[in-house]
Amino acid sequence: MTAPLVPQNTKRVLVTGGAGFIGGALVRKLLSGSDVQIFNLDKCGYASDLTSIGSDPRHELLRVDLVDADATAAAVQQADPDLVMHLAAESHVDRSIDGPGAFIESNVLGTFNLLQAVRAHWEQLPDERKAHFRFHHISTDEVFGSLGATGRFSETTPYDPRSPYSASKAASDHLVMAWHHTYGLPVVLTNCSNNYGPWQFPEKLIPVVILKAIAGEPIPLYGDGANVRDWLYVEDHVDALLLAATKGEIGSSYCVGGHGERSNREVVEAICSLLDQMKPKSKPYAELITRVTDRPGHDHRYAIDPNRITTKLGWQPLHDFSEGLTATVAWYLENLDWCQKVRARAGYDGGRIGTNK
Ligand code: NAD
Repeated sequence: MTAPLVPQNTKRVLVTGGAGFIGGALVRKLLSGSDVQIFNLDKCGYASDLTSIGSDPRHELLRVDLVDADATAAAVQQADPDLVMHLAAESHVDRSIDGPGAFIESNVLGTFNLLQAVRAHWEQLPDERKAHFRFHHISTDEVFGSLGATGRFSETTPYDPRSPYSASKAASDHLVMAWHHTYGLPVVLTNCSNNYGPWQFPEKLIPVVILKAIAGEPIPLYGDGANVRDWLYVEDHVDALLLAATKGEIGSSYCVGGHGERSNREVVEAICSLLDQMKPKSKPYAELITRVTDRPGHDHRYAIDPNRITTKLGWQPLHDFSEGLTATVAWYLENLDWCQKVRARAGYDGGRIGTNK
Protein backbone atom coordinates (compact mmCIF):
# COMPACT_ATOMS: atom_id res chain seq x y z
CA MET A 1 0.00 0.00 0.00
CA THR A 2 1.37 3.46 -0.87
CA ALA A 3 1.72 6.06 1.91
CA PRO A 4 -0.96 8.79 2.02
CA LEU A 5 0.10 12.09 0.39
CA VAL A 6 -0.74 14.09 3.50
CA PRO A 7 -1.21 13.10 7.17
CA GLN A 8 -4.76 12.37 8.32
CA ASN A 9 -4.92 15.53 10.44
CA THR A 10 -4.18 17.74 7.40
CA LYS A 11 -7.64 18.50 6.10
CA ARG A 12 -7.44 22.01 4.67
CA VAL A 13 -4.56 23.08 2.40
CA LEU A 14 -3.95 26.61 1.20
CA VAL A 15 -1.97 26.55 -2.06
CA THR A 16 -0.82 29.92 -3.37
CA GLY A 17 -0.10 30.17 -7.08
CA GLY A 18 -2.21 27.11 -7.84
CA ALA A 19 -3.36 28.59 -11.15
CA GLY A 20 0.25 28.48 -12.38
CA PHE A 21 2.36 25.71 -13.86
CA ILE A 22 3.78 23.95 -10.78
CA GLY A 23 0.93 24.94 -8.44
CA GLY A 24 -1.55 23.48 -10.93
CA ALA A 25 0.34 20.17 -10.99
CA LEU A 26 0.34 20.18 -7.17
CA VAL A 27 -3.42 20.87 -6.98
CA ARG A 28 -4.13 18.07 -9.48
CA LYS A 29 -2.03 15.65 -7.44
CA LEU A 30 -3.76 16.62 -4.18
CA LEU A 31 -7.19 16.26 -5.79
CA SER A 32 -6.44 12.83 -7.23
CA GLY A 33 -4.38 11.42 -4.36
CA SER A 34 -5.96 12.77 -1.15
CA ASP A 35 -9.26 13.97 0.22
CA VAL A 36 -8.09 17.39 1.45
CA GLN A 37 -10.01 20.60 0.82
CA ILE A 38 -7.89 22.92 -1.35
CA PHE A 39 -7.99 26.71 -1.27
CA ASN A 40 -6.15 28.08 -4.26
CA LEU A 41 -5.05 31.67 -3.66
CA ASP A 42 -4.03 33.22 -6.96
CA LYS A 43 -4.32 36.66 -8.50
CA CYS A 44 -4.92 34.91 -11.86
CA GLY A 45 -2.17 36.77 -13.69
CA TYR A 46 -0.97 36.44 -17.27
CA ALA A 47 0.53 32.95 -16.70
CA SER A 48 -2.48 31.50 -14.92
CA ASP A 49 -4.96 28.98 -16.24
CA LEU A 50 -7.33 26.61 -14.46
CA THR A 51 -8.20 24.32 -17.39
CA SER A 52 -6.03 21.51 -16.05
CA ILE A 53 -7.79 21.56 -12.69
CA GLY A 54 -11.38 21.79 -13.96
CA SER A 55 -14.17 22.01 -11.46
CA ASP A 56 -14.10 19.98 -8.28
CA PRO A 57 -16.03 20.57 -5.07
CA ARG A 58 -12.77 20.11 -3.12
CA HIS A 59 -11.06 22.98 -4.98
CA GLU A 60 -11.92 26.60 -4.33
CA LEU A 61 -10.25 29.52 -6.09
CA LEU A 62 -9.60 32.57 -3.92
CA ARG A 63 -8.82 35.28 -6.44
CA VAL A 64 -6.54 37.48 -4.37
CA ASP A 65 -3.38 39.48 -5.00
CA LEU A 66 -0.87 38.91 -2.18
CA VAL A 67 0.14 42.55 -2.52
CA ASP A 68 -3.22 43.37 -0.87
CA ALA A 69 -2.57 42.67 2.83
CA ASP A 70 -6.24 42.86 3.92
CA ALA A 71 -7.47 40.58 1.15
CA THR A 72 -4.64 38.14 1.91
CA ALA A 73 -5.55 38.08 5.62
CA ALA A 74 -9.23 37.50 4.77
CA ALA A 75 -8.32 34.66 2.38
CA VAL A 76 -6.16 32.95 5.00
CA GLN A 77 -8.99 33.27 7.51
CA GLN A 78 -11.46 31.79 5.03
CA ALA A 79 -9.13 28.90 4.14
CA ASP A 80 -8.38 28.18 7.82
CA PRO A 81 -5.50 25.94 6.69
CA ASP A 82 -3.59 23.09 8.35
CA LEU A 83 -0.89 23.43 5.69
CA VAL A 84 0.15 26.34 3.48
CA MET A 85 2.16 25.68 0.31
CA HIS A 86 3.37 29.01 -1.05
CA LEU A 87 4.15 28.97 -4.78
CA ALA A 88 2.67 32.29 -5.91
CA ALA A 89 5.38 34.42 -7.49
CA GLU A 90 6.29 36.24 -10.62
CA SER A 91 8.52 33.60 -12.14
CA HIS A 92 10.10 34.57 -15.47
CA VAL A 93 13.68 35.92 -15.36
CA ASP A 94 13.32 37.72 -18.71
CA ARG A 95 10.23 39.60 -17.47
CA SER A 96 12.12 40.55 -14.29
CA ILE A 97 14.74 42.26 -16.44
CA ASP A 98 12.12 44.37 -18.23
CA GLY A 99 9.96 45.08 -15.16
CA PRO A 100 11.59 44.27 -11.80
CA GLY A 101 8.98 46.18 -9.76
CA ALA A 102 6.30 43.50 -10.13
CA PHE A 103 8.77 40.91 -8.81
CA ILE A 104 9.56 42.92 -5.70
CA GLU A 105 5.85 43.51 -5.08
CA SER A 106 4.61 39.94 -5.56
CA ASN A 107 7.60 37.95 -4.37
CA VAL A 108 8.85 40.10 -1.50
CA LEU A 109 5.89 42.20 -0.31
CA GLY A 110 3.47 39.39 -1.22
CA THR A 111 5.42 36.85 0.85
CA PHE A 112 5.61 39.31 3.75
CA ASN A 113 1.83 39.84 3.66
CA LEU A 114 1.23 36.10 3.52
CA LEU A 115 3.62 35.41 6.40
CA GLN A 116 1.89 38.01 8.57
CA ALA A 117 -1.55 36.61 7.76
CA VAL A 118 -0.45 33.02 8.31
CA ARG A 119 1.30 33.89 11.55
CA ALA A 120 -1.90 35.48 12.92
CA HIS A 121 -3.84 32.37 11.87
CA TRP A 122 -1.28 29.94 13.36
CA GLU A 123 -1.04 31.80 16.68
CA GLN A 124 -4.75 31.42 17.37
CA LEU A 125 -5.03 27.75 16.41
CA PRO A 126 -5.97 25.28 19.17
CA ASP A 127 -2.92 23.35 20.46
CA GLU A 128 -3.66 20.15 18.57
CA ARG A 129 -3.92 21.88 15.17
CA LYS A 130 -1.05 24.23 15.99
CA ALA A 131 1.23 21.26 16.67
CA HIS A 132 0.98 19.88 13.16
CA PHE A 133 0.61 23.14 11.19
CA ARG A 134 3.24 23.92 8.52
CA PHE A 135 4.15 26.69 6.12
CA HIS A 136 6.06 25.43 3.07
CA HIS A 137 7.83 28.02 0.93
CA ILE A 138 8.65 26.94 -2.62
CA SER A 139 11.77 28.53 -4.03
CA THR A 140 14.38 28.16 -6.72
CA ASP A 141 18.03 27.15 -7.08
CA GLU A 142 18.61 30.52 -8.78
CA VAL A 143 19.04 32.12 -5.33
CA PHE A 144 22.48 30.47 -5.18
CA GLY A 145 23.81 32.35 -8.22
CA SER A 146 25.89 30.82 -10.98
CA LEU A 147 28.27 27.83 -11.02
CA GLY A 148 31.38 27.31 -13.10
CA ALA A 149 32.05 24.03 -14.87
CA THR A 150 32.07 21.97 -11.66
CA GLY A 151 30.32 21.78 -8.28
CA ARG A 152 26.66 21.63 -7.28
CA PHE A 153 24.33 23.70 -5.10
CA SER A 154 23.35 22.28 -1.73
CA GLU A 155 21.51 23.56 1.35
CA THR A 156 24.75 25.10 2.68
CA THR A 157 25.61 27.06 -0.48
CA PRO A 158 25.69 30.81 0.28
CA TYR A 159 23.02 32.92 -1.40
CA ASP A 160 24.29 34.95 -4.37
CA PRO A 161 21.27 35.94 -6.52
CA ARG A 162 22.07 37.84 -9.71
CA SER A 163 18.78 38.63 -11.48
CA PRO A 164 15.84 40.70 -10.19
CA TYR A 165 13.83 37.43 -10.15
CA SER A 166 16.37 35.45 -8.13
CA ALA A 167 17.02 38.40 -5.80
CA SER A 168 13.29 38.68 -5.08
CA LYS A 169 13.07 34.94 -4.40
CA ALA A 170 16.16 35.08 -2.17
CA ALA A 171 14.56 37.93 -0.22
CA SER A 172 11.40 35.87 0.24
CA ASP A 173 13.44 32.87 1.45
CA HIS A 174 15.11 35.09 4.06
CA LEU A 175 11.74 36.45 5.22
CA VAL A 176 10.38 32.93 5.64
CA MET A 177 13.39 31.82 7.71
CA ALA A 178 13.21 35.03 9.77
CA TRP A 179 9.54 34.33 10.60
CA HIS A 180 10.62 30.90 11.80
CA HIS A 181 13.50 32.10 13.96
CA THR A 182 11.76 35.19 15.31
CA TYR A 183 8.13 34.10 15.70
CA GLY A 184 8.50 30.32 15.76
CA LEU A 185 6.40 29.82 12.62
CA PRO A 186 6.89 26.17 11.58
CA VAL A 187 8.35 26.50 8.10
CA VAL A 188 9.97 24.22 5.52
CA LEU A 189 11.71 25.55 2.41
CA THR A 190 12.61 23.90 -0.89
CA ASN A 191 14.90 25.20 -3.64
CA CYS A 192 14.33 23.45 -6.94
CA SER A 193 16.00 23.49 -10.33
CA ASN A 194 14.28 24.25 -13.67
CA ASN A 195 10.96 22.49 -14.14
CA TYR A 196 9.39 21.37 -17.39
CA GLY A 197 6.26 19.46 -18.40
CA PRO A 198 2.68 19.95 -19.61
CA TRP A 199 0.67 23.14 -18.95
CA GLN A 200 3.68 25.49 -18.69
CA PHE A 201 2.81 28.95 -19.99
CA PRO A 202 4.55 29.14 -23.40
CA GLU A 203 7.13 31.81 -22.65
CA LYS A 204 9.86 29.60 -21.14
CA LEU A 205 12.53 27.71 -23.04
CA ILE A 206 10.97 24.32 -23.74
CA PRO A 207 7.45 25.38 -24.86
CA VAL A 208 8.86 28.38 -26.74
CA VAL A 209 11.18 26.13 -28.75
CA ILE A 210 8.39 23.66 -29.53
CA LEU A 211 6.02 26.40 -30.71
CA LYS A 212 8.64 28.27 -32.76
CA ALA A 213 9.69 25.02 -34.46
CA ILE A 214 6.13 24.00 -35.31
CA ALA A 215 5.45 27.46 -36.74
CA GLY A 216 8.61 27.20 -38.89
CA GLU A 217 10.02 30.32 -37.20
CA PRO A 218 13.65 30.86 -36.10
CA ILE A 219 14.30 29.05 -32.81
CA PRO A 220 16.16 31.53 -30.57
CA LEU A 221 19.24 30.24 -28.75
CA TYR A 222 20.61 32.72 -26.21
CA GLY A 223 24.35 33.43 -26.65
CA ASP A 224 26.46 30.37 -27.39
CA GLY A 225 23.84 27.98 -25.97
CA ALA A 226 26.35 26.68 -23.41
CA ASN A 227 24.37 27.75 -20.31
CA VAL A 228 23.49 24.68 -18.27
CA ARG A 229 20.27 24.03 -16.33
CA ASP A 230 19.38 21.00 -14.19
CA TRP A 231 15.99 19.97 -15.61
CA LEU A 232 13.32 18.28 -13.52
CA TYR A 233 9.94 16.93 -14.67
CA VAL A 234 7.20 18.88 -12.88
CA GLU A 235 5.52 15.77 -11.41
CA ASP A 236 8.78 14.76 -9.75
CA HIS A 237 8.97 18.24 -8.23
CA VAL A 238 5.42 17.86 -6.90
CA ASP A 239 6.37 14.55 -5.22
CA ALA A 240 9.32 16.31 -3.58
CA LEU A 241 7.11 19.19 -2.45
CA LEU A 242 4.60 16.91 -0.77
CA LEU A 243 7.33 14.99 1.02
CA ALA A 244 9.04 18.18 2.22
CA ALA A 245 5.75 19.80 3.27
CA THR A 246 4.58 16.82 5.29
CA LYS A 247 7.78 15.09 6.45
CA GLY A 248 10.47 17.77 6.19
CA GLU A 249 12.20 18.93 9.35
CA ILE A 250 10.83 22.25 10.60
CA GLY A 251 13.25 25.11 9.95
CA SER A 252 15.09 23.11 7.25
CA SER A 253 15.53 23.61 3.56
CA TYR A 254 15.83 20.95 0.86
CA CYS A 255 17.45 21.27 -2.55
CA VAL A 256 15.51 19.46 -5.29
CA GLY A 257 17.03 18.42 -8.60
CA GLY A 258 17.01 15.29 -10.72
CA HIS A 259 20.55 15.00 -12.08
CA GLY A 260 19.20 16.41 -15.35
CA GLU A 261 22.00 18.78 -16.38
CA ARG A 262 21.79 19.84 -20.02
CA SER A 263 23.10 22.87 -21.91
CA ASN A 264 20.46 25.01 -23.61
CA ARG A 265 21.86 23.85 -26.95
CA GLU A 266 21.41 20.19 -25.95
CA VAL A 267 17.81 20.88 -24.88
CA VAL A 268 16.95 22.71 -28.11
CA GLU A 269 18.56 20.00 -30.26
CA ALA A 270 16.77 17.25 -28.33
CA ILE A 271 13.41 18.95 -28.95
CA CYS A 272 14.21 19.32 -32.66
CA SER A 273 15.09 15.67 -33.01
CA LEU A 274 11.89 14.60 -31.20
CA LEU A 275 9.87 16.82 -33.54
CA ASP A 276 11.68 15.28 -36.52
CA GLN A 277 10.20 11.94 -35.39
CA MET A 278 6.77 13.09 -34.19
CA LYS A 279 5.93 15.73 -36.81
CA PRO A 280 8.41 15.36 -39.69
CA LYS A 281 8.83 18.17 -42.19
CA SER A 282 10.93 18.36 -45.37
CA LYS A 283 13.94 19.78 -43.50
CA PRO A 284 15.28 18.95 -40.00
CA TYR A 285 13.93 21.35 -37.38
CA ALA A 286 17.49 22.01 -36.14
CA GLU A 287 18.03 24.16 -39.24
CA LEU A 288 15.75 26.75 -37.58
CA ILE A 289 18.10 27.20 -34.57
CA THR A 290 19.32 30.82 -34.56
CA ARG A 291 21.75 32.38 -32.11
CA VAL A 292 20.44 35.60 -30.53
CA THR A 293 21.98 38.13 -28.13
CA ASP A 294 22.48 36.59 -24.71
CA ARG A 295 20.26 37.43 -21.70
CA PRO A 296 21.89 40.21 -19.62
CA GLY A 297 23.61 38.65 -16.58
CA HIS A 298 22.81 35.12 -17.83
CA ASP A 299 23.85 32.68 -15.08
CA HIS A 300 26.21 30.11 -16.59
CA ARG A 301 25.32 26.90 -14.82
CA TYR A 302 22.91 25.56 -12.20
CA ALA A 303 23.20 22.05 -10.74
CA ILE A 304 21.68 20.58 -7.60
CA ASP A 305 23.00 18.07 -5.11
CA PRO A 306 19.73 16.50 -3.88
CA ASN A 307 21.42 14.31 -1.26
CA ARG A 308 19.46 15.70 1.73
CA ILE A 309 15.99 15.13 0.27
CA THR A 310 16.90 11.71 -1.14
CA THR A 311 18.52 10.37 2.02
CA LYS A 312 16.33 12.04 4.67
CA LEU A 313 12.93 11.98 2.95
CA GLY A 314 13.39 9.13 0.45
CA TRP A 315 12.61 11.26 -2.62
CA GLN A 316 13.62 9.96 -6.06
CA PRO A 317 12.70 11.48 -9.43
CA LEU A 318 10.72 8.97 -11.50
CA HIS A 319 11.29 10.53 -14.96
CA ASP A 320 14.61 10.84 -16.71
CA PHE A 321 15.10 13.81 -19.03
CA SER A 322 14.58 12.04 -22.33
CA GLU A 323 11.38 10.34 -21.14
CA GLY A 324 10.01 13.56 -19.60
CA LEU A 325 10.90 15.61 -22.65
CA THR A 326 9.24 13.12 -25.01
CA ALA A 327 6.03 13.29 -22.95
CA THR A 328 6.22 17.10 -22.87
CA VAL A 329 6.75 17.54 -26.62
CA ALA A 330 3.89 15.10 -27.32
CA TRP A 331 1.64 17.05 -24.91
CA TYR A 332 2.34 20.41 -26.58
CA LEU A 333 1.70 18.93 -30.02
CA GLU A 334 -1.69 17.79 -28.81
CA ASN A 335 -2.50 21.07 -27.06
CA LEU A 336 -1.59 23.78 -29.56
CA ASP A 337 -5.07 25.30 -29.15
CA TRP A 338 -4.48 25.77 -25.44
CA CYS A 339 -1.13 27.46 -26.16
CA GLN A 340 -2.80 29.86 -28.57
CA LYS A 341 -5.61 30.57 -26.13
CA VAL A 342 -3.39 31.40 -23.13
CA ARG A 343 -0.93 33.44 -25.18
CA ALA A 344 -3.74 35.48 -26.73
CA ARG A 345 -5.33 36.06 -23.32
CA ALA A 346 -1.96 37.24 -21.95
CA GLY A 347 -1.32 39.44 -24.98
CA TYR A 348 2.00 37.63 -25.54
CA ASP A 349 2.99 36.82 -29.13
CA GLY A 350 6.04 34.66 -28.36
CA GLY A 351 8.47 37.50 -29.10
CA ARG A 352 11.77 38.16 -27.35
CA ILE A 353 11.65 39.86 -23.95
CA GLY A 354 14.29 40.69 -21.32
CA THR A 355 16.99 42.22 -23.51
CA ASN A 356 17.16 45.41 -21.41
CA LYS A 357 16.77 47.42 -24.61
P1 NAD B 1 3.94 30.41 -12.82
O1 NAD B 1 4.35 31.76 -13.27
O2 NAD B 1 3.50 29.42 -13.82
O3 NAD B 1 2.77 30.54 -11.74
C1 NAD B 1 2.83 31.45 -10.68
C2 NAD B 1 1.41 31.75 -10.21
O4 NAD B 1 1.52 32.67 -9.11
C3 NAD B 1 0.54 32.43 -11.28
O5 NAD B 1 -0.70 31.76 -11.41
C4 NAD B 1 0.37 33.85 -10.77
O6 NAD B 1 -0.89 34.43 -11.08
C5 NAD B 1 0.51 33.65 -9.26
N1 NAD B 1 0.93 34.90 -8.62
C6 NAD B 1 2.01 35.68 -8.95
N2 NAD B 1 2.03 36.77 -8.18
C7 NAD B 1 0.96 36.70 -7.35
C8 NAD B 1 0.42 37.55 -6.35
N3 NAD B 1 0.99 38.74 -6.08
N4 NAD B 1 -0.70 37.17 -5.72
C9 NAD B 1 -1.31 36.00 -6.03
N5 NAD B 1 -0.87 35.17 -6.98
C10 NAD B 1 0.24 35.52 -7.64
O7 NAD B 1 5.18 29.88 -11.99
P2 NAD B 1 5.66 28.38 -11.71
O8 NAD B 1 6.66 28.02 -12.73
O9 NAD B 1 4.49 27.50 -11.49
O10 NAD B 1 6.44 28.59 -10.34
C11 NAD B 1 5.78 28.43 -9.09
C12 NAD B 1 6.77 28.65 -7.96
O11 NAD B 1 7.85 27.73 -8.07
C13 NAD B 1 7.40 30.05 -7.96
O12 NAD B 1 7.49 30.49 -6.63
C14 NAD B 1 8.77 29.84 -8.56
O13 NAD B 1 9.71 30.78 -8.06
C15 NAD B 1 9.08 28.43 -8.07
N6 NAD B 1 10.01 27.66 -8.94
C16 NAD B 1 9.76 27.55 -10.29
C17 NAD B 1 10.62 26.79 -11.07
C18 NAD B 1 10.37 26.61 -12.55
O14 NAD B 1 11.24 26.07 -13.25
N7 NAD B 1 9.22 27.00 -13.09
C19 NAD B 1 11.72 26.16 -10.49
C20 NAD B 1 11.94 26.30 -9.11
C21 NAD B 1 11.06 27.04 -8.35
